[in-house]
Amino acid sequence: MASFDPDRISLPGGHYIHGRLVQETGTLPVSRPSDGKVYAMLPSADAGCVDAAVDSARRAFGGSDWARRPPRDRARAMRRWADLIEADIDYLAALESLGSTRPIDQARAWDVPYTAEGIRFFAEFADKCGGEVAATAHDHLGMQIAEPLGVVGAIAPWNFPLSMTCWKVAPALAAGNTVVLKPSEMTPFSAVRLATLAVEAGVPPGVFNVIQGSGPVAGEALCRHPGVAKVTFTGSTGTGRAVMRACAETGPKPVTLELGGKSPQLVFADVPDLDRTAQTLAAAITGNAGQVCVAGSRLLVERPLLEPLVERLQQCFATLEPGLTWHAGTRFSPLISDAQARRVETIVSRAREAGAELLTGGTRFDTESGGCFYRPTILQVGASDNPAVREEIFGPVLTIQAFDDEEEALGLAEHEIYGLAAGVHTADLGRALRAVRRLSAGTVWVNRYGRSRDYILPTGGYKRSGIGRDLGRAAYEANLHHKSVLVDLTP
Ligand code: NDP
Repeated sequence: MASFDPDRISLPGGHYIHGRLVQETGTLPVSRPSDGKVYAMLPSADAGCVDAAVDSARRAFGGSDWARRPPRDRARAMRRWADLIEADIDYLAALESLGSTRPIDQARAWDVPYTAEGIRFFAEFADKCGGEVAATAHDHLGMQIAEPLGVVGAIAPWNFPLSMTCWKVAPALAAGNTVVLKPSEMTPFSAVRLATLAVEAGVPPGVFNVIQGSGPVAGEALCRHPGVAKVTFTGSTGTGRAVMRACAETGPKPVTLELGGKSPQLVFADVPDLDRTAQTLAAAITGNAGQVCVAGSRLLVERPLLEPLVERLQQCFATLEPGLTWHAGTRFSPLISDAQARRVETIVSRAREAGAELLTGGTRFDTESGGCFYRPTILQVGASDNPAVREEIFGPVLTIQAFDDEEEALGLAEHEIYGLAAGVHTADLGRALRAVRRLSAGTVWVNRYGRSRDYILPTGGYKRSGIGRDLGRAAYEANLHHKSVLVDLTP
C-alpha cells in the first residue's frame, strides 16, 4: 500500500446507537501518536447517552430476532460483515493507522484481515454449542440449554483498536448477545466503522452500539449500568480492578478481564540458531513499540549467551527507525502519547537509580515529527525487585537477567504479580516441557513468541493478569449461560 495523507481521511465521529451515528459537540481532544497533532474533538458520553445505548441494545436483544433467529442465519450475517470489512480495507486500515500506533503496512497485513477472520471464527460457533443433555435417570430428561446473557458491555484498549474490538464483540454477538462498546478515547474511530459495516451486512440496528468518552466517566457508567449483563475489558490491572468493583457493586455481574503482563523469555545455551532467536526476542519487545500486553519484556538468558545475545539484539534494534504510521515502509511505532512516553522514561530512570545498567537505548528518538518515539532499550538487572522487572512498562524496554541453571531460570521467571505469557527457547524438548509445567502463565510459547493467526487457543492471565479468557471456544462460552431443564417422562 502506498502512503496516505492523514488529513484527507474522513472520520466517523460520534457515538453509534441503534444503527445511527449520533453526533454531538466534541469536548475531548484526540491526537495522532505519529505527530502529536490534535485531529478531532470527541463527544463524551454522559449517563444519559450510556442509558440510550444500553436501551438500544436491550431493545435489540428482546425486540429484534438476533438472539432468536436460526443460529446459522446469525453466522451468515457475521460472515457478510467480515466480507465487508475486507472489502473496506483501504479506508479501515487508514482509519486505524492514522490515529493509533499501527503502521499502515501492518494495519493492512494484520489488523484488518485478522479482525475479519476473527469474526468468521466466532460466527462458526453459533450453531454448534446449543448446550447438552444431562445424564439423568431413564424416566427423566435433563438438559442444559445455552442462552445468551443479554447486553454485554465491552471496553477496548488503544494498542490494537480493531482486533481488540473483534476479540470482545465477535464472541458476544455470535452467541446471540447485543453489545455496547466503549473504545479508548485515544483510538475511537475504527470501532464506529466496524459497527456501521455490521448494520450494512444485515446485523439489526442496536445489536452493536458504540459510545465514545473517557474511561472513568463513560466506561465506569457502562460497567455500573443495571441493564448490562456482563462486562469484558482489556487494559491495565489497576483499571481492571475498578471495572470489577463497579460490576460487583451494581450486580454482581460476570467479568472477563485481560490485564497487564511482564512476560519472561527463557533462553538456554543450546538454542541452535542464535541469530533467529535474537530476531524473535527483538520482535517480541519492539512490535507496536512494546505496547502489547504479552510483550516479551523480561529476558532470562543462560550466562554464556549473555554477550553474544546482547550484541545481536543491539544489531536488530539498530535497524529500527521511527516513522509516521501513514508512511508505507514504517516498521517501528510511536508511543501512544506523551503521557505514555513520560511513564516509560520514569520507570527507566527509577530502574537505573535502583542499579539497572543501561546497555542500549534509554532515550527518546530525536525526531521532528512531534510524535513520541522511544529507542529500543536494554537494561541489565541484578535484583528482581528492580522497578523495570516488577512494573509493566508498555514500551520497547527489555530487562536482561543471567542464570546458571534451569532451576534458577524458572525461579527468576516467576513474577509476583503477573502471569500472562512466557517464552522458552531451547533445543531440549524435555526441558521445554518441564518449563511449560512450571511457568505461571496463561500462554507459553516454545521456540517462538507471539500469536499465530489461529484463534483457537484461548488467551488470558494467571495471577493478576486477568480473569477468564479471550479467543477460543472459552471466549464464546463466556458469553452464554445455561438453563437447566428437567422433564418428568413418566406417563
Ligand atoms: P487503562 O486500563 O486505564 O485503559 C484501558 C481501557 O479502559 C480504555 O478504553 C479506557 O478508556 C478504559 N477505562 C479507563 N478507566 C476506566 C474505568 N474506570 N472504567 C471503565 N473503563 C475505564 O489503560 P491506560 O490507557 O491508562 O494505559 C495505562 C497502562 O495500562 C499502560 O501503560 C499499560 O501498562 C496498561 N495497558 C494494558 C493493555 C493491555 O493490552 N493489557 C492495554 C492498554 C493499557 P479511555 O482510554 O478512554 O480512558
